Amino acid sequence: MANKPILAGNWKMNPTIAGDAAALLQGISDAARAQDRVTVAIFPPFVWLLGVLELLEGTGIELGAQDCFWEPSGAFTGEVSAAMLAGICSWVIVGHSERRAMGETDDVVARKAGAALAAGLSTIICVGENQAQHDAGDAGPVVEAQVRAALAECSADDSQRLVLAYEPVWAIGTGKNADPEHAYRQMRLIRDTAAGIIGAKAGARLRVIYGGSVNAANIDDYVELPQCDGCLVGGASLKADEFSAMIASTAGVYATAAQ
Ligand code: PEP
Repeated sequence: MANKPILAGNWKMNPTIAGDAAALLQGISDAARAQDRVTVAIFPPFVWLLGVLELLEGTGIELGAQDCFWEPSGAFTGEVSAAMLAGICSWVIVGHSERRAMGETDDVVARKAGAALAAGLSTIICVGENQAQHDAGDAGPVVEAQVRAALAECSADDSQRLVLAYEPVWAIGTGKNADPEHAYRQMRLIRDTAAGIIGAKAGARLRVIYGGSVNAANIDDYVELPQCDGCLVGGASLKADEFSAMIASTAGVYATAAQ
């Protein structure tokens, strides 16, 4: 059975005040409650997870973390394990380009993804080429290599909880969203590459989403793409009205597609 599409809000290192995190969640609750076509998941900073968790009941919104560590416990100062998160939330993001830019390697991303899936978390693995790679026409090989590396510890059994996000680095937080045709080509490549590793059935079941300067004005261009299972949204997910509009329009697109 095909997985439900997802609209994921990556709050990054925001908001800085607990009350603002609660207000943001409350601001999107009505839109999330009003539909059941799309899984809405939010990814606050670690420190707000427990507070937000208390407010989620009845909203239908799911909770995720922005990162995790692969060892379950031990002498790893500052880290939070996938196993710990599994007691609080159902989602995690690994391999975000903002973490890769701070030194996270393909090997680390693979370990985190493996641990997250083993802990029972639905896991979004981010891949995408940077500006220089894009300009050189190397998006395809870069994305394919990242997918191959990231899935090193994954199997077909993980496909229900596996989401691969095509997030071109040059599109993140820049206002330069990718041309939908370019995004479609990379998303197809991502699915085909994954299918080659974990099998055709699993490749068809996992979700492939787009992220990079998605907002209320352009989200339909992506969610209308064949086989696009949703979007990962950064900046626009911090504006309750805008994210609410994105939830409504995404639900509308998938409702129409289902008819
Ligand atoms: C992101 O943080 O994953 C992201 C896509 O950010 P933005 O929507 O701001 O480009």
